[in-house]
Amino acid sequence: MIHDFTYLKPGSVKEALAMLADHADECKVICGGQSLLIVMRQGLVAVDYLIDLKGLNELSYIKYDDKEGLKLGATTTHRIIEKSNVVKKNYPVLTAMEEKLASIQVRNWGTIGGNLAHADAAGDPAPVLISLGAKVKLGSKKGDRVMSLEEFYTDLFETAMEHDEIVLEVQVPPAPPKTGSAYQKFNLIENDQGIVAVAATVTADKGGVCTDAKIVLGNAGVTPIRAKSAEKVLIGKKLTDKLFAEAGEAAAGDADPVSDIHSSADFRRHLIKVLTKRMVKKAWDQATKG
Ligand SMILES: Cc1cc2nc3c(=O)[nH]c(=O)nc-3n(C[C@H](O)[C@H](O)[C@H](O)COP(=O)(O)OP(=O)(O)OC[C@H]3O[C@@H](n4cnc5c(N)ncnc54)[C@H](O)[C@@H]3O)c2cc1C
Repeated sequence: MIHDFTYLKPGSVKEALAMLADHADECKVICGGQSLLIVMRQGLVAVDYLIDLKGLNELSYIKYDDKEGLKLGATTTHRIIEKSNVVKKNYPVLTAMEEKLASIQVRNWGTIGGNLAHADAAGDPAPVLISLGAKVKLGSKKGDRVMSLEEFYTDLFETAMEHDEIVLEVQVPPAPPKTGSAYQKFNLIENDQGIVAVAATVTADKGGVCTDAKIVLGNAGVTPIRAKSAEKVLIGKKLTDKLFAEAGEAAAGDADPVSDIHSSADFRRHLIKVLTKRMVKKAWDQATKG
């Protein structure tokens, strides 16, 4: 049963931030409601005020330019991102991730800002976006600030957002030349959340040496985890099958998985080893083709 609350419908972001400042300790924002309503129904979250961001079209946009990269407004739905030609052309890994995120119905309502702010360790967008070097723009009545998405996550369902802040925008830098990205989750039910997931983005130089690697593990700990030992295996080298396998071993060591009804921690580590090897190879093949 959902605790009684007062529903507030701001007409602009400015109004939403003013409402949030007035009720910061006793309210939450809602957007698509695809995560929040579940936890409210379960009685895990009870608030006095709910501020609805859903109709704020000024935060529903996809912008791209070659210098600045991609900007996704927080209220942009998964479905709009999935169907965007500009996303598909410049960040095909994001399109592929969105196609496997939940059902079309959920993607039609759920938003990128809501997904990232919910901070579910099994969320799909965060590992991919972190591997692409994304940042989040946060806003409050006091002003805006930008932080890396990696730093945004502090614990399970916890972020660095203050009570009076919301996510305004996700910013993804342009990919350097000769960069490839890949993402895969392992799930038992098609388009469900992953038991674990791995995102990899790698960059090659003209001589075929790996100059940068970002490997991010999803649902392998309480927050998305950068597999830094695995990245070290790759950077500065010409990549081979042996190195892909070594990166997989290292990533399994970087993970901090739990055992639960879906999987033991050991099986999660095994999956991370296999998926990392495959995702790094897939990303490297893209980076070095042609
Ligand atoms: C059946 C089902 C299957 C799903 N499968 C997947 C899956 O495979 N992969 C996956 O990643 N996700 C999955 N999800 C989760 C879903 O994608 C997210 O719930 C959705 O994207 C959240 O966005 P929302 O707008 O609905 O957020 P809401 O539910 O409205 O809000 C979620 C949280 O974010 C906060 N919030 C919302 N917008 C903002 C904002 N702009 N700034 C600050 N805080 C904000 C709210 O206060 C709340 O705490 C699934 C959900 C369902 C119901």
